[in-house]
Amino acid sequence: MKTSIKIGKLYGIPVKLHITLILIVALITWSIGSNMLLIAESLRIPDPGVETGMISYTIGLVLAIGLFVSVLIHEMAHSIVSIKNGINVEEISLWLFGGISSMEEIPKDPNLEIKISVVGPLSSLALGAGAFVLGMLFTDPILSFVFLYLSFINFLLAGFNLIPAFPMDGGRILRALLAKKMPYAKATVRAADVGKVFAVIFGIIGLFFNIFLILIAFFIYMAASQESQSVMVREVLGKVIAKNIMTKEVKTISPDTTVAEFLKKVTTHQHTGFPVVRNDKVVGLVTLGDTKNIDESRIRTATVSDIMATDIVCAHPDEDVSEIWNIMLKKQFGRFPVIKDGELVGIITRSDILHSFNILSELERFRGNEI
Ligand SMILES: [Zn+2]
Repeated sequence: MKTSIKIGKLYGIPVKLHITLILIVALITWSIGSNMLLIAESLRIPDPGVETGMISYTIGLVLAIGLFVSVLIHEMAHSIVSIKNGINVEEISLWLFGGISSMEEIPKDPNLEIKISVVGPLSSLALGAGAFVLGMLFTDPILSFVFLYLSFINFLLAGFNLIPAFPMDGGRILRALLAKKMPYAKATVRAADVGKVFAVIFGIIGLFFNIFLILIAFFIYMAASQESQSVMVREVLGKVIAKNIMTKEVKTISPDTTVAEFLKKVTTHQHTGFPVVRNDKVVGLVTLGDTKNIDESRIRTATVSDIMATDIVCAHPDEDVSEIWNIMLKKQFGRFPVIKDGELVGIITRSDILHSFNILSELERFRGNEI
């Protein structure tokens, strides 16, 4: 299912809205529109003097949109600094909990990561200050309410993002500061652990005061685990090249083999897929999953060439395994033929990579001891 809509480009970066946003904009519009007096009182800002109705809900909608424009500006600040420092930003997406800028890579230079991370909260602080001044200047009670509320939102955004919990900006700054003293992967795991502790604290507070906090806690916990895992994978697998872990004796299959014979081969070799080779050239890849659409009555007549995948991606023996892993995840491939000068020299499967990862991550504990 398509869960995001692209609304346009800013600074060359595609901006996408996630469908959860519709829900949250409606919720914010409703909660502001129907509690205006209460909000004004609790924030100690002047009451706009409108009764609950069309006008109050319109103000609610304006503020809900204002919140996401504020988030967008915050994310743009991260993205522009990234791009200026040579890091490509794939997209900005706005969703339930705010914004995410997807960078092609995470800066490994701690000073650059600090720079990119800190500019988001700084821009929110600046917006907050600007909106505060406008709110104080306007004498119209509605305009004054709108700007003072936006100012509050932006200060909240800056404060929330500066919490040193991974994956928030504060957590990234913490990771970068730690990375100046220890290896990058270790710094990430430490920063992610701090993030998880915050998530648990948020969750407990949320249980008593605000259910929304439990959702945020859950999000932080998941994101922290994911980030520390993906950095570990990159760190560990980035040191391995394809030829070190590939299986060299590759069982191949001819495109003219019948599906029945292929199934027999799967049973005897206990491999679920084979590179398809004709005249020493890899022409495709066939896996057990490809037989799904073949009716039982046809397995003796249909051949491998009828069902194999031909849009395959091959690896070079010197290719970085972390790169191969990324493509496997993105394209949902289970195996990669390894080809050198047009010739099949090996094959790498998901389980080869996981096996190597398990060994290497055990060894990672001894890093720094020069083994
Ligand atoms: Zn940020």
